[in-house]
Amino acid sequence: MNESKTYKNYIGGKWVESATGTTFNSINPANKEEILVKLQKSDEKDGDMAVDAAEDAFEKWSSMPAPKRGEILFKAARILEEQKEELAKTMTKEMGKILIETRGDVQEAIDIIKLMAGEGRRLYGHTTPSELPNKFCMTINLPVGIVALITPWNFPMAIPAWKIAPALIAGNTIVFKPASDTPLCAIKLVEIFEKAGIPKGVLNIVTGSGTSVGMPLVKHKKIRGISFTGSVETGQIITKEAGLKRVGLELGGKNVIIVMDDANIDLAVDGAIWGGFGTTGQRCTAASRVVVHEKVGDKFTEKFVERAKKLKVGDGLDPETEMGPAINESQLKKIHKYTEIGKEEGATLLTGGKILTEGKFTQGFFYEPTIFSDVTKDMTIAQDEIFGPTVAIMAAENLEEAIHIANSVEYGLSSSIYTESINNAFKAIEKIEAGLTYVNSSTIGSEVHLPFGGVKNTGNGTREGGIKGIEEFVETKTAYIDYSGRLQRAQIDIE
Ligand code: NAP
Repeated sequence: MNESKTYKNYIGGKWVESATGTTFNSINPANKEEILVKLQKSDEKDGDMAVDAAEDAFEKWSSMPAPKRGEILFKAARILEEQKEELAKTMTKEMGKILIETRGDVQEAIDIIKLMAGEGRRLYGHTTPSELPNKFCMTINLPVGIVALITPWNFPMAIPAWKIAPALIAGNTIVFKPASDTPLCAIKLVEIFEKAGIPKGVLNIVTGSGTSVGMPLVKHKKIRGISFTGSVETGQIITKEAGLKRVGLELGGKNVIIVMDDANIDLAVDGAIWGGFGTTGQRCTAASRVVVHEKVGDKFTEKFVERAKKLKVGDGLDPETEMGPAINESQLKKIHKYTEIGKEEGATLLTGGKILTEGKFTQGFFYEPTIFSDVTKDMTIAQDEIFGPTVAIMAAENLEEAIHIANSVEYGLSSSIYTESINNAFKAIEKIEAGLTYVNSSTIGSEVHLPFGGVKNTGNGTREGGIKGIEEFVETKTAYIDYSGRLQRAQIDIE
C-alpha cells in the first residue's frame, strides 16, 4: 500500500478534492504510527455539491427499470468477490479485526448486494379487491429521493453495503458519509460500484467528520431520507435535527446470553467467547452480559474464564491472533474507564482489566479480554454499552429472573439462550425485549436475508436486511384504476 496516497471524494462521477483543501489520516489501530492513507477533510460545501450531483442523477436513475439497476449491483458483487482477500487485508489494517472476520465483513457485503440485486426483479407492491365494481387497486414502491447514509466503523463494508444496495435498487440516489475511522474501506466500496458502471451522481461519497459533513446532510433540505447506524447519542441528535425527513436508526446494544441449568455448558462457553470477544467486543450485537442459572454458575464461569485467559491478542493480520485492537485511543480509554467503574461498584474482576502496553502491544490500542462476576443488573457495567472486550456475568434463580435481568436495560438488539428445553427456548423468544433471539448460538451471526434491527433505544423500528430492508428506502404509492366509465364514489356508492 502506498502510504502517502491521498484519496478524494467521489462526487458526480469524479474524484475531487474537498473545498477545504485539507486532509486527515487513516491509521492502523494495531500500529498507530502507520498512516495508511490521507482522506479529504470535507465540510458542508462538499456535502452540498454531492447533494446537487445526486439531484441531477435522480430522474434518470429512478426511471431505469429496477432489473437493470440490479445488473449493476450483480456486477459490483462479482468485483467484490474477485477482490475479497485484498479488501479483507485492507480492512484488518484500517479497523483492526482479525482476517477471518474481515473476510466475513466483505462476504456480508457481497451477499446483501446480491440479495438486493435480485430484488430488482421483485420490489413487490400488492393488489387487493376494490369495494367498487370495475375498479382495480394496487400499491407500487417508489424511491424516497436523495438519501444520506451515515455509517459506523465496526463493519466498514458490510454496513454501508446494507444501506447502499437497497437504496440503489429502489431507485434512490445517495450521499454517503462513512465513519472517520474507516474511510478507506468505504472509498474502496465506492470504487467497486464505479467499476461496476454506476452512473455519475448516483452514488457519492464525502469523507470528513460527523459534525462538519454528517450534520449538514441531516439538515439539508433536499435530502429526503437518512439511514444512520451508530451510537444512541448520535441517533438522538440526528432525530432531533432531521425535521420531518424519514430517518432509519440502527443504534447500540447491551446484548445478553442466558445460560440455563440444562444447557450444554461447553457450547455456551463457545458462544460467550465468540459473542463477548469477537471483534474485540465492538459489535452492536456483542454479548456483553451473560446471565447464568445459579446451579451452573461456577461451572460455566470457570470454563469461560479459562478460555478467555488463553485468547491470543495481537495484530489481526497475524493468523495466530484471536482478538485484535480497539479502534482508537479514546475507545481504549473508555473501555478501561468501565473496568475502573466495575471495580468501584463492587463487581469482581476475574480476568483482564488492563491496557496492554508492553512488547508488540506498544504501538496499538490493545486491551485484555475482561470478565466481571458478581454483577447486579443496575451496575453501570450491566447497563452501559462499553463496546469493548468486557463481559459481565450475572446470576439468576430461574428463567423468569433471567429474562427480567435481560430486559432491564435501555437497549434491545440481540439476545440468546442456551437450553435443551423447548419450553425455555420459546418463552425466551417471546419475552426477551430484543429484535433478535438466538437459541443455542451466540448473539452474533445475522444472515442477510432476514430482518436485522432492535427495539427500545436500539432504534426506531426500521429493519435492515431481508426483504424488509427495502422498506426504509421506498415510498408506497397507492393507485386506483377505475374502468367503469362513470363516476364512482368510494364509501358512498351503493349498487
Ligand atoms: P457514532 O459515534 O454515533 O458514529 C457513527 C457515524 O455517525 C459516523 O460516521 C460519525 O462520523 C457520524 N456522526 C457522529 N456525530 C454526528 C453528528 N452529530 N451528525 C451526523 N453524523 C454524526 O458511532 P460509532 O462509534 O461510529 O459506532 C459505534 C456505535 O454504533 C455503537 O453504539 C454500536 O452499537 C452502534 N452500531 C449499531 C449497529 C446496529 O445495526 N444496530 C451496527 C453497528 C454499530 P465520525 O466517524 O466522523 O465521527
